[in-house]
Amino acid sequence: MELNEVVKRARKLSSPYRVAKGKSFRLADCDPGDTDRFSDRDKPKAERVLKAGVEALIELQGMLYAQDRWSVLLIFQAMDAAGKDGTIKHVMSGVDPQGCQVVSFKAPSPEELDHDFLWRCVRHLPERGRIGIFNRSYYEETLVVRVHPELLARQKLPAKLATDSIWDERFEDIRNLERYLARNGVLILKFFLHVSKEEQLKRFISRLDEPGKNWKFCETDVAERAHWDAYMRAYEQVIRATASKHAPWYVVPADNKWFTRIIVAAAVIDGLASLGPHYPVVSDSRRRELDRIRASLE
Ligand code: ATP
Ligand code: MG
Repeated sequence: MELNEVVKRARKLSSPYRVAKGKSFRLADCDPGDTDRFSDRDKPKAERVLKAGVEALIELQGMLYAQDRWSVLLIFQAMDAAGKDGTIKHVMSGVDPQGCQVVSFKAPSPEELDHDFLWRCVRHLPERGRIGIFNRSYYEETLVVRVHPELLARQKLPAKLATDSIWDERFEDIRNLERYLARNGVLILKFFLHVSKEEQLKRFISRLDEPGKNWKFCETDVAERAHWDAYMRAYEQVIRATASKHAPWYVVPADNKWFTRIIVAAAVIDGLASLGPHYPVVSDSRRRELDRIRASLE
């Protein structure tokens, strides 16, 4: 399929899940089991759509790299077992590893806690021409840290700065960072993989039942599950406060992994295509120079 055609389809597929204005956003309006026009029976078709998407992504990434002007930051946030890792793996499969880097953000180290909360992420922002993927991000600072106030207490903030306004202040700081990055040529796309509490339970149980998945099981994930409602409230507030045209959220239904992957691929294609990427055009004088060099080689 022609790249133009894939891009058109990608926009159509991904736009229902795009949140570029947060004000009236409600998580309750989003169904984690949504599969749009695909049914479970359409899985082979869905696989073809993903394959075409991945091929388009490879082509667009090649141009992004050659152009060396824009960079792309993809942020992934989700509850445990929502499928962040698998989505990143499938959507980015085949993309030139030299043009792409994945960084995972876990609980902060003592060195990281000795700095402001954006510091560790800012150090890993992608260079021009590259795609940077954040597997979790500074958004954890308004999610896990909000759900567990004892984490905030460990952040060594001067006491008079850790007030009740801290979450609104962090949202403001994040908005400012993202606007700054956008003004410097960073395309930012943020993904919340929205899994239901029931589907998470199923996935935890299969991690316990299937020996090949045992390694993925983690007791602390079960403990976090007990805070489900607090997390959902925190996610809703994050999206309301930080969705913008230049750094939209995609709230991607995540109860069906095959569907999650199609939508994420489509959103990335749409984002890359919006940059109008193309291979650098060689000027006439440079063309003549290349012809001269070629002749001299022969
Ligand atoms: P997987 O479980 O698939 O390997 P993961 O992203 O869940 O991936 P883990 O090592 O299980 O990786 O968990 C990382 C943990 O670190 C998460 O529970 C997350 O909430 C926590 N974390 C990330 N950033 C922060 C932060 N700034 N402060 C406190 N905890 C954080
Ligand atoms: Mg985990």
